[in-house]
Amino acid sequence: MEQSFLAYLRGRTRQLPQVAVGIGDDAAVIDWPGSAASDQPQLRQVACTDQILDGVDFRSEDQSLCDIGFKAMAINLSDIAAMGAKPSSALVTLALPAENATEIAGEVYEGILEAAQKYQVAIAGGDLSTYDGPLSISITILGWTEKPWLRTGAEEGDALFVTGALGGSLLGRHLRPEPRVELAAKLKDKVNVHAAIDVSDGFSLDLDRMLAASRMGAELELETLPISEAAHQFAEKSGRTPLEHAWSDGEDFELIFCVAPEEAAIIESTDWGVPVTRVGRVVGRTGLWKRVATSKFERVFPQGFVHGETDVAATN
Ligand SMILES: [Mg+2]
Repeated sequence: MEQSFLAYLRGRTRQLPQVAVGIGDDAAVIDWPGSAASDQPQLRQVACTDQILDGVDFRSEDQSLCDIGFKAMAINLSDIAAMGAKPSSALVTLALPAENATEIAGEVYEGILEAAQKYQVAIAGGDLSTYDGPLSISITILGWTEKPWLRTGAEEGDALFVTGALGGSLLGRHLRPEPRVELAAKLKDKVNVHAAIDVSDGFSLDLDRMLAASRMGAELELETLPISEAAHQFAEKSGRTPLEHAWSDGEDFELIFCVAPEEAAIIESTDWGVPVTRVGRVVGRTGLWKRVATSKFERVFPQGFVHGETDVAATN
């Protein structure tokens, strides 16, 4: 439901000049009045929000509330990183079950404050309310950048990269995601990223979303895909291959991005502190294609987590 409703909403929320990028990217980009008239490079505000609900996005009976609070921050920080922005401050809104409201708020905030300190984000405000319903955590994070990385910027011939290792996050990594905030800042210093997205719903699905926004496709060297140790472990009992896990598992919170081919060597010769792996290149024909021989490619289809459904193939 979410994707089609978002398409509808995009049509209904006509852009006003202060919103440079609205619904449809990892975060919105908001400009200051008069900034377009200046010839100096301006800092632009980047904003994203996410709501997670007990029983839908997490289960409070099986998970620590501190972990859930941390994750609520981390998923937003991952979107800020995917815009190439530096996070600044957060607004936190909790709807708390009336029974034990104070205790629950305290535990959730332990994780929120831990993430805030780790990524140097100020908690600037928010709201607390109690009701006869499950815990809901809604966080908005604001950040800054001079030049946001948009999904729409991929160019034909660009080299495609992914950070970290993919798949199997459900075995535990998803509880404490490591948003690539620091890495995004380092990349910004050294290269000109054309387009980026974070992996929230699955590598192939999010890659396909970025390329679709750019009206491009990709030729992939699937044997280069960085597969996590957890994906190998998961494959032993899931009946799926490690590659299938890396291809489609959600909640990796890694970054997919592309740069001009002449900048690929800079990325490959730099120690970024986390692995950054070249996985293919952007091509003019749409869709995802895997190399099967020297100059032969076969169509492959994105797969991942689609909200409101579970683990289905995306159709496009
Ligand atoms: Mg995202």
